Amino acid sequence: MKKDVADFLKTDLQFIRGVGPVLAARFADVLGGRTVRDFLLHIPRYVRAREITESVANADVGDVITIPLLVKSHRRGGTFRGRRTPTQIICADKMGDTVVVQFFNAKFLDYWLEKMPIGTWRMVSGKLEKSSRPTINHPEFIEEMENAGKIPSAQVIYPSGEGLTQKTFAAVRDRIFAQLDERIAGESDENVLEFFDALRHAHFATQSSDLLPNAEYMVKLAYWELLAHQSAIVISRRNRHDERNRRTVRSDKYTLMPRFFASLPFELTGAQQRTLDEIFADMARDVPMMRLVQGDVGSGKTIVALGAAIKMACSGAQTALLAPTDTLAQQHFAKLRPLCDKIGVVCDILTGRDKGVARREKLTSLRSGRTRIVVGTHALFSDDVQYRDLGLVIVDEQHRFGVSQREALRAKGHNPDLLALSATPIPRTLSMTIYGDMDVSVINEKPAGRLPIKTTKLSVARVDELVARLKPQIENGARVFWVCPLVADTEQSDMAAAESRHAYLSKYFPNCGLVHGQMDKRARDAVMAQFADDNGNMPILVATTVIEVGIDVPRASIIVIENAERFGLAALHQLRGRVGRGNVQSYCVLIFGNNISPDGLRRLDVLCETDDGFAIAEQDLMMRGTGELLGTRQSGWINYYFVDWREHRDLFKLAASAARDGTTDESWVRDLMFIFDRGVIISA
Ligand code: ADP
Ligand code: MG
Repeated sequence: MKKDVADFLKTDLQFIRGVGPVLAARFADVLGGRTVRDFLLHIPRYVRAREITESVANADVGDVITIPLLVKSHRRGGTFRGRRTPTQIICADKMGDTVVVQFFNAKFLDYWLEKMPIGTWRMVSGKLEKSSRPTINHPEFIEEMENAGKIPSAQVIYPSGEGLTQKTFAAVRDRIFAQLDERIAGESDENVLEFFDALRHAHFATQSSDLLPNAEYMVKLAYWELLAHQSAIVISRRNRHDERNRRTVRSDKYTLMPRFFASLPFELTGAQQRTLDEIFADMARDVPMMRLVQGDVGSGKTIVALGAAIKMACSGAQTALLAPTDTLAQQHFAKLRPLCDKIGVVCDILTGRDKGVARREKLTSLRSGRTRIVVGTHALFSDDVQYRDLGLVIVDEQHRFGVSQREALRAKGHNPDLLALSATPIPRTLSMTIYGDMDVSVINEKPAGRLPIKTTKLSVARVDELVARLKPQIENGARVFWVCPLVADTEQSDMAAAESRHAYLSKYFPNCGLVHGQMDKRARDAVMAQFADDNGNMPILVATTVIEVGIDVPRASIIVIENAERFGLAALHQLRGRVGRGNVQSYCVLIFGNNISPDGLRRLDVLCETDDGFAIAEQDLMMRGTGELLGTRQSGWINYYFVDWREHRDLFKLAASAARDGTTDESWVRDLMFIFDRGVIISA
């Protein structure tokens, strides 16, 4: 691949014309990264046809319709007595039937009203909803009749998030491909050209079937992705066993372990003890450890990680614990610090928030080796961070990091040990193909006295009953997480759903909290902190974005998940793990929408019946469709973009043997590993 093209892939989205830092940050939330590469690998989920309907009577609620409408009157909205009313534009279709076009966002009112003057015909396109009359909320297109052709007859729909419309996606896509075309002109590698051609087919698909996993170009992309991954595994394994990467085994200078075990406020479970033994055995070898610890949420991985870090400290070496977010880093630190203090091991935290003198002091302490354990975010592998002797890298929620990030941190030491923690159980059948370069320990036992979470499902029509049942619980001090999911493809932000749910709940429960992705991070953290505070008085927290994996509010004993049918089983299981951390009985209520399918109900039953993450993972694998599942990327076993577990099993085998035998052009494999972020491992 030409350098020019590679550089373009690495370009930050904020430098694409019309994007800027705010939009780039929103993209980052959805794409899991903010480069052109991340955008290109994020392909549409399906294609929506927009055929013109003449009469609203012929359309069904929920349909996306494109319809000529005559504007009859305007009814301005606003805030009356603290209640917001929408602005309505009352229209009629060709048959004379009334259609209301409705806007909630007061900021752009005049703009909308000017777009639809009274007495004119307009071509309007959007989702038909029904309140008392047929209604279109926030249409995606409003065009004068002579410009009706501007409304695409087929439109790709991207999995999206808050503050990002499909129009924005399409505009950014167009610009990226225009720039890509310029750069690719000088490219001569056939493979590279073929690859971008396949991506183009996906991003500009004209029918949904082109986006199914077995469509021609999708199969190609999935194969390349698997090849990148399998090749990385082969190389990493080879590196690890390479003579040149042998090291001398460290010897203990300090005796810390007995004090560590004595200072624990509880007995380790058998599974925790066994996992620690496996880790210690790895550490005593002359090849670096590469171990994955898998354990359900709440199985107690943190203490195991600390045990490994203390063992490392016995030899005087350092440990870095990498967490995916600031909040999680803070939580780890808050837990580890007191235990470290007890045994006299210096533990610190380093995140993007540390600036100036404070940061410099932390760095000095790391460089001198005084700090033995450091917890943090990617700040841990910034250029200016140096370790005296980094012996162990621990990666929490490892699927949230690219291999290159993991390796960037490992590169700060000399062949350090690697310990990865994952709360997402991987079906045993897949474990080898996914983590082929790692040894796996499983913590399949919960700490004693943990009560299983009672899970029930409930139709959204019965939310009132739920509220009545929550009341006494809350009066007794229960804390409730209330999750509203992202809706993948509406113009209108999901904030509305969460906001209206929040407004509804506030009628019954004063001081009900709300967090969503469009809030300022600091404001969001403040609300979270208030909810987590034992002495606080916020009983319910409504959250739009999935509550961060691993967030710890031990007092929360109830979680309500709306539109549960839209989540993957693994994602639901993860969410459910936000409760059940203390020793009171916890509950999970899965609320499903009116349109749930029999399959959807069956999936929810799996969760009601079992609490065993491995069993759920197996079921998830069996049942996972390619459709509208939310949260699969965030909580997937690995961040595959194109690979579908059910459809591509044969490709796994093909890719694995191609990688093992080295039959594919070497520079192309290298390009693929770069594209799919498996590249840096080569230099390990
Ligand atoms: P996770 O595996 O989800 O990271 P944590 O390490 O955060 O789980 O542990 C969850 C909770 O269980 C913590 O509050 C921790 O102190 C507690 N815990 C861990 N191990 C045990 C144990 N063996 N006995 C009792 N409580 C434990
Ligand atoms: Mg954890």
